[in-house]
Amino acid sequence: MKTLAEYKEEIHSCSKCGICQSVCPVYKITGNDCTVSRGQFIMLKGLIKGDLKMSPKINRYLDLCLKCGACSKFCPSGIDVVDIIASAKAEYFKTSRLEKIISSVQKTFIFNFGVNLLGLFARKFKSKKFDKKVIYFGGCSGKMKGNKAVVKILNSCGVEVITPDFQCCGIPFYVRGDKESYESYKKSFEEIVQKYDVKEIVTTCASCEKTLKSYKIEGLEIKNIFEYIREKELKPILKKRFKVTFHKPCNIDNFEDIEWILKNTENLEYIEMENYDKCCGLNGIAKISEYKVMSEIFKAKHKDIVNSGARIVLTSCLGCEAALRLFSFGKYRVMDFAEFLNKYAKPD
Ligand code: SF4
Ligand code: SF4
Repeated sequence: MKTLAEYKEEIHSCSKCGICQSVCPVYKITGNDCTVSRGQFIMLKGLIKGDLKMSPKINRYLDLCLKCGACSKFCPSGIDVVDIIASAKAEYFKTSRLEKIISSVQKTFIFNFGVNLLGLFARKFKSKKFDKKVIYFGGCSGKMKGNKAVVKILNSCGVEVITPDFQCCGIPFYVRGDKESYESYKKSFEEIVQKYDVKEIVTTCASCEKTLKSYKIEGLEIKNIFEYIREKELKPILKKRFKVTFHKPCNIDNFEDIEWILKNTENLEYIEMENYDKCCGLNGIAKISEYKVMSEIFKAKHKDIVNSGARIVLTSCLGCEAALRLFSFGKYRVMDFAEFLNKYAKPD
């Protein structure tokens, strides 16, 4: 994780063209330049030069960023906004007792105790043996739900699945600026990978996939399960007819694979909802104090899902799944795509 000062060049390369304003979901609601990359970079420049001091006010603006990366996709200077905001958060984290307390509570009670407790009830499915072996990194989602969907899908691709006991990938701590916790999760991941003689890790969660890729471990490939399904051209057949829509998580790399599966699954009617690729609003640090901004984003997503006419919305990120479920109000069902296939596809 680079420091804020190490991003000086990138921050200086912002031409202040303002294109980010036209795509930032937060700026659209607040109209405040400090809530979009252009304005944030002006603040961060001030911090690096020493003209400004890190403060709770600046931190509030950093937290309002959803880390959706929409601005980076259109930025003519090609600036990776998410990493820069995370490094600025790390500066604030160093100075804030409250942030440290929140992070420690989050780590102890949610990601360690809570997830492990729910994991006790999750079923570990035994994989068939094949020459090709991969490790399944389920993250928190896999821990709580078990590995049945992944084992069944990968076994049908002729791949054996090893399911070690991983912890969180570390993304919640990365975006909070808690470098120490992020590094500790990264280290525990590296230790487990070293223990097994495997060159591939498979995930089902877009955010875990992105984080594991950011570790840049030499000789280790991080793959999403949907790449396997497409590579093998497995065309699932569902037991009955379903009409679904799909919410594309911001962190997903290989949406083409998912789209291919959606369009090639028998008995599946896929409706592309409007703004299917817009952030659900949870990416980053959802704060109750920013409920007004968040609820505007949630409401817009809810409307798009309802308007699609589908009663099931599929996705592939635990955070998105939680956010969509929270605001579904019983109008539709939210499901992880891999789980959906496991539940409703006919066995080979
Ligand atoms: S789009 Fe990029 S270069 Fe343009 S103002 Fe935003 S961050 Fe700066
Ligand atoms: S990452 Fe998303 S929320 Fe943050 S500034 Fe860019 S577009 Fe706005």
